[in-house]
Formats: sequence, structure tokens, C-alpha cells
Amino acid sequence: MIIFKKADLLSGYLSQLKEQKKTIGFVPTMGALHQGHFALINAAKKEKHFVVCSIFINPTQFNNPEDLKHYPVTIVKDIQGLVEAKCNVLFLPDIKEIYPDNYKKKYYRLGKLETILEGEYRPGHFQGVCQVMDRLLQIVQPDTLYLGQKDYQQCMVITKLLQLLEKKQVQIEIVPTIREEDGLAMSSRNLRLNEEQRKKATTLYKALNFIKSNQRKYPITTLEERAKQQLINNGFTVDYVHIADRSSLKKATSKNKHPVALVAASLDGIRLIDNLLL
Ligand code: AMP
Repeated sequence: MIIFKKADLLSGYLSQLKEQKKTIGFVPTMGALHQGHFALINAAKKEKHFVVCSIFINPTQFNNPEDLKHYPVTIVKDIQGLVEAKCNVLFLPDIKEIYPDNYKKKYYRLGKLETILEGEYRPGHFQGVCQVMDRLLQIVQPDTLYLGQKDYQQCMVITKLLQLLEKKQVQIEIVPTIREEDGLAMSSRNLRLNEEQRKKATTLYKALNFIKSNQRKYPITTLEERAKQQLINNGFTVDYVHIADRSSLKKATSKNKHPVALVAASLDGIRLIDNLLL
């Protein structure tokens, strides 16, 4: 695996590969890699000649400075894992490579997506996601971008970003959420949970499964309320439990055949999200 720290060197290298008609899969991450990230790398390996992974903790997408300060960093282990997964390139930029002195901040018109759910509870978060993705897309110019369903709304935001940037040539592939044996969605932030919090954290998946198994039994609002109560009983502070239309994220109605349930809740300040297709 080659590690690039400089954006222009990586772009130059990748453009040579493109001249040789090699296809490029791209997996953007913030590091502290786990099996969820490697599922994206493996999907890209299967389908593309060449796989680029980036590790960059993007400060502009953190609305909470404490969250940024405590974001886990395991770079040596990450590099070992990427070598074992036969990833071809790791892009490991420092902040000036992504946001150089002449960087012009743009505003991305995301519409409703920006003000609901994650957008409501993390103001500015999705603008930050778009800033970093816009830069990374310019640098890597992949054929396919591999994203995790774990970040459901983020997948929708990045799909919208590609439309705004008119990047029709870039495909998006969404990989299902990889979970621990007890159902907890893998997440870099799980590293911050102590033993007791880790046990309680499974409530997120249990609450989503409660919704899934009872969806024909109770009205939508009751399902949301009961799931929320389960989380509160287990020590969570709940931002939202929302059953929504899969493609608009508007509150689902009884007519929705295949909605999605989304949840965001914190345990002692560690914020976790998850979702389940119903
Ligand atoms: P992050 O490092 O958290 O920014 O995540 C990088 C990419 O990995 C994003 O596309 C995430 O949606 C994806 N990802 C994170 N956790 C999981 C998981 N448990 N299963 C599948 N994909 C995931």
C-alpha cells in the first residue's frame, strides 16, 4: 500500500491509473477503523481495479468541540488493517492539504435534509461533510464512492452533493451496516464506551428491533414513544427516534410500505446513531 500525504501527488498518481483505464473505488473515513470500514474496502476491492481509502478527521463537521477532542485515533493499527485488506492507497492528509490557505468556503444547498434529524441536532454538520467530500472528490475523482448505511442521512446528503456538483460520472454504493454479535452497530465512537456503557449501548439496536417486530401492531407515534422510553430507561438521552419514508425522511404514514427507523441518543455524552430498514 502506498501512503500519500500530499493531495497533488495523489491526484497525479491516480490520473496515470485512469489513463490506463483502471477503475477507482474510494472509501473516505475518519479512521479508528473497524469491520464496518473494512466491509466498504472489501466491496470496493471486489468491484474496482484500485482502492483508495482516506483517513482525515474533518474538524468542520464537528459541531461539538468535545466530540472532536475525544475522537479516537488508532493510526498504526489502521495502517496494518489496510495493508491486510490489500487496500492500494491510503490518503492521510493534514488539514492544510484539505483546507489550504486559498480555500474558499462554499455553501451547499441541501434543503430540508440539512435541518432535520442529524441536521437539527448537529447544526452545520452536513455543510462540513460536504466541504470535505467536495475536496476529497476533487482530489481522488473516483468512479465509485463506498458509503455505509450506518450513516443513513449522510448517504442522502452525499447523493445530493453529487447532484449539486453535477458529478454524474461518480457512482455511490451503500454497504449495509456491520454489527457486533450483540447487534450494536460498529462505530469508531464505541471505543469511548466503558464496560457498563457498552452493555447499555445494545439498547439502540433492541429499540430499533422493537419497532421492526411491532410495526403492524402499534401506530407509528406509539412505536417511536415506546422505543424512546426503552432508551431513556437504559440511561440514554434521546435526540430522536424517527420512523420515516426511506427516500424523503419525512415522517412515515401507515401507507409507507418500507419505511426506515432512525435513532440518535447519547450515553454520558457519547452520541451514537443507528437505523434499520423496516
Ligand atoms: P467514519 O469513519 O465514521 O466517517 O465512517 C466512514 C465510512 O464508514 C462511512 O461511509 C460510514 O457510514 C461507514 N461506516 C461506519 N460504520 C459502519 C458500519 N458499522 N457498517 C458499515 N459502514 C460503516
